[in-house]
Amino acid sequence: MEERGMSREMIEALLQEKKLKDLSYERILSSMCTYPHEMAAYAHKMFLESNLGDSGLFPGTKEMEDEVIRMLGALLGNENAFGYLSTGGTESNIQAVRAIRNRKRKEGMSNMNMNIIVPETAHFSFDKIADLLSINVQKASLDEELRVDVNSVESLINDKTIGIVGIAGTTEFGQIDPIKELSEIAMDKDIFLFVDAAFGGFVIPFLDENYEFDFSLDGVSAISIDPHKMGMSTIPAGCILFREEFYLDELVVSTPYLTTKGQCSLTGTRSGASAAATYAVLKYLGKEGLKTIVDECMRLTRLLVDGAKRIGIPPVIEPVMNVATLSFPESEVGRVVNALEERRWRVSITRTPKALRAVIMPHTDEETIKLFLDDLEDVV
Ligand SMILES: *Cc1c(COP(=O)(O)O)cnc(C)c1O
Repeated sequence: MEERGMSREMIEALLQEKKLKDLSYERILSSMCTYPHEMAAYAHKMFLESNLGDSGLFPGTKEMEDEVIRMLGALLGNENAFGYLSTGGTESNIQAVRAIRNRKRKEGMSNMNMNIIVPETAHFSFDKIADLLSINVQKASLDEELRVDVNSVESLINDKTIGIVGIAGTTEFGQIDPIKELSEIAMDKDIFLFVDAAFGGFVIPFLDENYEFDFSLDGVSAISIDPHKMGMSTIPAGCILFREEFYLDELVVSTPYLTTKGQCSLTGTRSGASAAATYAVLKYLGKEGLKTIVDECMRLTRLLVDGAKRIGIPPVIEPVMNVATLSFPESEVGRVVNALEERRWRVSITRTPKALRAVIMPHTDEETIKLFLDDLEDVV
């Protein structure tokens, strides 16, 4: 830091310069984030200083958080769910697993060989979980459509298995695991079932096809859903929901010198601004508004996949959600992605099978898809 501060004009110029280095979302097809809705940005600014880590000082913000929990619970089949607004899918995943681990410890299970079972497609946050919580994360194999194979899940379950995870909207392929079957296994064996719907939570309820994936299935114990992805809110906004309040209690530490007695979140100080943003945008859009957004993303996803088929590139799976994955020979995919990058496109590459991945977020429009397809055809 300099001894003396700079003028506001100089800072503004510096910020402009940095802003220009950042990419704008227009040609980004590799991200699950997007421009926040204008209503969310408005609310975010208005509550910038609000800290939900000390919510007794911000009862108005707390009311909004509680209301968001009710709204998202209702969207996911249980308006009486218990939870809080996290910093995102990673924190939600950590907390879900931490809650069941603590509960099992309390019941007398030792940490030794404690495990959870996740699909091979699980988000990399589960690698952090294995490290942080000292539990084994077992990976179940997939079926041909890249959904978790329930037989593989069942075969991995042992007496130290504390939870199983299903993904409703996989990060790489946008596939939905057979949550109903997982729910049956969970009930049958009395195991905690966590549904990672970080991305899919704001998509699946609005698809034309009906998928069972939420609290309406009795075996589902907890769900994660991210308002900062398809919920059009500001970063950081995630949400973890539990069917039973006692799981939330497993996360509580007491908070001396604050206005509250205890705290269940992983972070201490946490953004009231993004809680306000989430509240505002969900109130503004309603289910109707969210469905309109999902409908358009799905229409454009199909447009991209159909266009790619016409130039001879098949999808890895027919799109289930607004994620398109295009199949190339493994030796080709890197070259194609690099060539597209030279044309200022940002797409990503999946792990297995290797494919080009494009997420069609609300910042994408039909013109963009057409330009992308033209460049794709050129490049191949
Ligand atoms: C994005 C994502 C996460 C991680 O969420 P962050 O908000 O980036 O921490 C977890 N699970 C799934 C399925 C995701 O798509």
